[in-house]
Amino acid sequence: QWIYLDGQYVKKEDAVVSVYDHGFLYGDGVFEGIRMYDGNVFRLDEHVDRLYDSAKSIMLHIELSKEEMSDIIVDTLKKNKLENAYIRVVISRGVGNLGLDPFTCRKPQIIVIAEQLALFPKSLYETGIDIVTVASRRNRADVLSPKVKSLNYLNNILVKIEANLAGVSEALMLNDQGYVAEGSADNIFIVKKGKILTPPGYVGALEGITRNAIIEIAEKAGFVMKEEVFTRHDVYTADEVFLTGTAAEVIAVVKVDGRVIGDGKPGKYTNQLLQEFRNTVTQDGRK
Ligand code: PLP
Repeated sequence: QWIYLDGQYVKKEDAVVSVYDHGFLYGDGVFEGIRMYDGNVFRLDEHVDRLYDSAKSIMLHIELSKEEMSDIIVDTLKKNKLENAYIRVVISRGVGNLGLDPFTCRKPQIIVIAEQLALFPKSLYETGIDIVTVASRRNRADVLSPKVKSLNYLNNILVKIEANLAGVSEALMLNDQGYVAEGSADNIFIVKKGKILTPPGYVGALEGITRNAIIEIAEKAGFVMKEEVFTRHDVYTADEVFLTGTAAEVIAVVKVDGRVIGDGKPGKYTNQLLQEFRNTVTQDGRK
């Protein structure tokens, strides 16, 4: 397996970074998670745009153009002869002195890792998953914007730990006002009386690329699709609940905090959206 590391391809075993890298010392950097389906990189431009927006927001200048970055991602996939893969792009502030000051860092470190995908077990897509509400809250937009996919994911990691301790794999995260925001690394949708709702970005949810694809697919299918603020009560009483994300795709949630959702099985909207999502991802995308 070949890893792109600062302008070169190195073997997995040799892909190491300095202990003085501020990504390691302080979580100072940004990242993206991208998927390749049957040789098509799904929504590459949107991922690269979001990566550059994250970097700009934290004043991290990427010397490569977006086109060069996209080419490196595609080349890394080709070099590893992958057709279905998960791609992780990491840009750290780079090597600097001890101390927070990012201006001691000479140049950002760019890393691209592409791997064969370890999918969620297929059975989970058939049965759906259980989730619980966790005590950790989504960070507020006036601190570090939730729109930045920064290397500082501790909040989301604490969410994952809370979920794991409760014996489930995913969580429902609220924002500081108690409105539903998202999962640990997934967006949330609910379906109630034929209306599909997802929280708007300002609630604190990342505007996920899978989320955006699902909104488009739902609108194209003629469903009533709205970005609306909602509470846990609305989730508990929904007919269907599902999560979306690059890794999870579209996965049904059948129990929330012990409340069975609908009839306890993935619902018809969720199944249709998952099906149409899978049709889309294998058809469009950069080769
Ligand atoms: N929310 C958070 C906090 C995430 O990290 C992710 C993963 O990227 C998502 C939602 C889902 O976004 P996407 O569909 O772009 O992967």
